[in-house]
Amino acid sequence: MSKFIDSRLGALEEYVPGEQPRDKKYIKLNTNEFPYPPAPGVIAAVSAAEVADLRLYSDPTCKALKEKLAARYEVTPENVFVGNGSDEVLNFAFAAYCRGGAAFPDISYGFYPVFAELYGIDSEIIPLNEDLSIDPAQYCSKGKAVVIANPNAPTGLCMPVGAIERIVKTNPDNVVIVDEAYVDFGGESATALTKKYENLLVVGTFSKSRALAGARVGFGIGDCALIRDLEKIKYCTNPYNINRLSLVAAEAALDARAYYDEKDALVAETREKAQADLRALGFAATESKANFIFAKHAKLPGAALYEALKARGILVRHFTVPRIRDWNRITVGTPEEMKTLIENIKEILNGLE
Ligand code: PMP
Repeated sequence: MSKFIDSRLGALEEYVPGEQPRDKKYIKLNTNEFPYPPAPGVIAAVSAAEVADLRLYSDPTCKALKEKLAARYEVTPENVFVGNGSDEVLNFAFAAYCRGGAAFPDISYGFYPVFAELYGIDSEIIPLNEDLSIDPAQYCSKGKAVVIANPNAPTGLCMPVGAIERIVKTNPDNVVIVDEAYVDFGGESATALTKKYENLLVVGTFSKSRALAGARVGFGIGDCALIRDLEKIKYCTNPYNINRLSLVAAEAALDARAYYDEKDALVAETREKAQADLRALGFAATESKANFIFAKHAKLPGAALYEALKARGILVRHFTVPRIRDWNRITVGTPEEMKTLIENIKEILNGLE
């Protein structure tokens, strides 16, 4: 770092993304990417003609994409914000709504505390229950913003929409941000509630269930006044926040709902099978509704399993946070990849005896 950086920014603790190794080919089960390619229509949409048009700026209003998102979620385009990944939507939401403090779980998406620190926000970190579930009662009547991932990460555990509604209803003077990055793999979406409550912002992404992590497209759905707030921050920072190729890719993805519904269901089915296989090998696993499994084994510390799998060419995600140090988060891959994973874990466990 240089001596010129603003000292407050220089002292920030950064978010550490999962490994994206280039050294060798791994079975990559560490960053919750989709195991299948984008729909054929998406690949066709990113055409040579679109590439040629890269000399032109992208549409700062994201009009066509907003219209398709609005149709998909049964809201109006004025209820939709489009961000450069849902990380950008969350970033803007922390900037806009959390000045008076924000409450979020101790174990959740690791970017929340980073955004909180970036904006000098006073955060109230609420421990998960012993079984790693969120206790909704602890988020009611907080008098500050609330940020919840549903399903939560890295536990994969889901809250019913009724519990989200209670949190939203009891915090009428603050925004409740519900991060639904993983909702399409078996969770319950709260988007319909945005029509009833002016203080609910639901955040979604094309990175997980729509196979577009590399395109960087996320979205927010909420009351049109909330959306105007986020637009304000966008136009004060980066008006062309979504590039032309990502816009057409995301639009085409929304046109391919049948493809994604089928593949998302396949991921959920693969998750259930792999979860059962791991339990049969003595693992404890949460009841994940996301595209990842969260599991631990009494005889094998989380870091040891992570290292042993990495040595065998399989990458999973291990977190060093003390409370979940014994666990690993394993992205659900194809059935073949999960079969290889389970075979390797069996061998690792056999080696312990
Ligand atoms: N929310 C959660 C809970 C996540 O796990 C992630 C992915 N790391 C994101 C948001 C951000 O995803 P993206 O910016 O790719 O939309």
